[in-house]
Amino acid sequence: MAIKIKVMEPPELTWYEKMYLPQVFSGLIITLKHLLRFRPITIQYPEEVKELPPRYRGIHVMPGDDEGEIRCVACKLCEVACPTQAISIVAEAADDYGIERRPKVYNIDFMRCVFCGFCVEACPCDALRMGMKYELASYNRAGLVHTKEVFFDPNVKSEAPRDNANYLYEKGMGEILDSPEVAEKVKDLSGNYTSS
Ligand code: SF4
Ligand code: SF4
Repeated sequence: MAIKIKVMEPPELTWYEKMYLPQVFSGLIITLKHLLRFRPITIQYPEEVKELPPRYRGIHVMPGDDEGEIRCVACKLCEVACPTQAISIVAEAADDYGIERRPKVYNIDFMRCVFCGFCVEACPCDALRMGMKYELASYNRAGLVHTKEVFFDPNVKSEAPRDNANYLYEKGMGEILDSPEVAEKVKDLSGNYTSS
């Protein structure tokens, strides 16, 4: 493929522009205006806390469901989406109807996290959000690996359906393979459950 080259000619300056003094004075006038309208922008942290923009990406928060339980179903999509491999999840079987798994361990290593928010984008359950906290200082490395117990905040609620199939069923918007009544019957059974 041929490369196109465009030669740029430097602009021709008039005698007035070649003096440079008008540009110097216009710069000084701008500086003077800033001096006269001086307003301090220093924040006396930690006594004063800066107001953050609503879309700020701080330390993660895990919202609660209607029962005040963690919404995460340990699908590990966030773990896969994380570009720095900061998330580590160990799943365990869950007893709740409609939820197969939950996280036994859910850690985020803040020595790796770059607060990109990809994990939040990847989560299908609204189980993870970027929060507004940013104080992460620690005297040791272990203190920078946070667990789900730290992220979980039952006061943060989510409107998103935790179990999409059940949500559609309750709304009368879809067909469900195993109704809650059927699921009650098979709770005590061992082995794999298949709906009839
Ligand atoms: S914010 Fe980005 S880097 Fe941090 S845990 Fe989520 S995906 Fe990984
Ligand atoms: S936080 Fe969301 S994406 Fe990550 S494991 Fe839990 S449910 Fe899956």
